[in-house]
Amino acid sequence: MSKNFDLIAVSPHPDDAEIGCGGTLALLSEKGYRIAIIDLTNGEPTPFNDDPQVRLAEASKAAKILGIERVTLDLPNRKLLDNVEARMKLAKEFRRMKPKIVIGMQGMTPRASPDHYQSQLIFNAATFYSRLTKWEHMFDGLAPWRIDNVFYYYTARELFTQSQPLQFTVDISEHFETKKSALLAYESQFRAHSSYNPPIIDWLEGMGRFFGSLAGCKYAEIFYGSKIMTMNLFDYILD
Ligand SMILES: [Zn+2]
Repeated sequence: MSKNFDLIAVSPHPDDAEIGCGGTLALLSEKGYRIAIIDLTNGEPTPFNDDPQVRLAEASKAAKILGIERVTLDLPNRKLLDNVEARMKLAKEFRRMKPKIVIGMQGMTPRASPDHYQSQLIFNAATFYSRLTKWEHMFDGLAPWRIDNVFYYYTARELFTQSQPLQFTVDISEHFETKKSALLAYESQFRAHSSYNPPIIDWLEGMGRFFGSLAGCKYAEIFYGSKIMTMNLFDYILD
């Protein structure tokens, strides 16, 4: 692989990362950063789709629209559980792709798939497994890779109750249309909607405008940090 990845978003199913941070991924890719989504599962079966290949093709179309790369692991949809095997699979990708930043999904999402919360346990463990020394034999000889920049994206599949030490938004006003197109690539998921999935455009509009209104721009995505960062915000504001 020619160049290490700048940022990897980890998604339980193809479409979750796009909903949470698709605008930011498009923005960063346009700036020339190397970005990828790792899907833990292929997301299938789902109620309105009969062919897993269709979802894979949609996911690859969405990645193309955002200008990013994509890896789909073969962990089991609907039965995703945090275990050593799942952690190793994701950690292996981290060791291979060497990201500077990783972003996982945030929140329990009690009314949506239980895979979402399990994905976070796997994600947190994998960032740790990625850096462990004296374990190369467990990772096909891949050297440890340390990831200090761990963040979480928000999909509004639960109430907004987060109170982590670091929250920030990214202004995606210029990239909102790209995000919308990426999600509309998932025809099999959003052609029809159910009680827990509002029409996708309303969902993206509502969430984007809400965080945009808090941040003072038209559309924004919110992120949570896993630690308080050393950053001179005064410099950034005054610049
Ligand atoms: Zn999902």
